[in-house]
Amino acid sequence: MIRARAAASTHVGRIREGNEDAYLCIDGLYFVADGMGGHSAGEVASEIAVTTLSQLLSTVAANNLSADDLASAVRHANTAILTEALRDRAKAGMGTTLTGLAVADAQHSRALVANVGDSRTYLWRHGELRQVTKDHSHVQSLVDRGAITRAEARVHHQRNIVLRAMGIDPDLEVDVFEVDIEDGDRFVVCSDGLVDEADDDAIEVAIRTSPSPQDLADNLVSLANHLGGRDNVTVVVVDFADAPTDVTAPIVRPADGDVTVPIHVTRRPSRLIDLAAYGSWLVSAAIVVTVIVSALTQ
Ligand code: CA
Repeated sequence: MIRARAAASTHVGRIREGNEDAYLCIDGLYFVADGMGGHSAGEVASEIAVTTLSQLLSTVAANNLSADDLASAVRHANTAILTEALRDRAKAGMGTTLTGLAVADAQHSRALVANVGDSRTYLWRHGELRQVTKDHSHVQSLVDRGAITRAEARVHHQRNIVLRAMGIDPDLEVDVFEVDIEDGDRFVVCSDGLVDEADDDAIEVAIRTSPSPQDLADNLVSLANHLGGRDNVTVVVVDFADAPTDVTAPIVRPADGDVTVPIHVTRRPSRLIDLAAYGSWLVSAAIVVTVIVSALTQ
């Protein structure tokens, strides 16, 4: 039987003051949400998105989850965000992207990938990287029309215009893709803070050189920060393999105390950073990035 090993990493980046990304990395549910909206409302929207998915799907995941189940859960989360924005006008206009995968059956033979917005779910299989999701963004529509290339889209001045997000429209359209899982599959779920800094080639090098899910998640976050860190960056990695272990890396939410969420819905602290820990993180990040950059330039 195929088993999953997963890990996540998130960072505020080098410019932003707060981290509006959120993620879900529990057994069978692996999602990233990238919040938007002023006055901290973006981080509320992304938290609601992943928390609602956890509440609705953690009991049915790995138990014959259907595409309709997943789309319905995302729409429920959309309604929860809209309801909170109506209840508290300070949060009006908050929204979030959401993407990631849910394991659809107990045998880990099928994954359902959902997407709303411009966060991405990638699949690394047989040495090739492919983007499972399609961005709901202005620049993607330009790529589709042949007006710009994929490489030009990454640096386009309008690359942050999102055409679909949660928290905007009560009638939300959700993309769901079904993937038959194979031994050796590696999924990478990320916010645009990664892909706006690192192109697919750089992501591929990190995938090839990072043995464990935690290594890869940490390395990709370090890479995004090394290349600019202009946005929050969040990465969830899921490896599927015929293996005796079934370990989801433990993830503990920092005790910042201002948001009520389940323990598994977490965001790394953006303000109260332990300087010693941060220093050692910087050193290890520099080593990793040096390896990746040198591999890229060979
Ligand atoms: Ca972002």
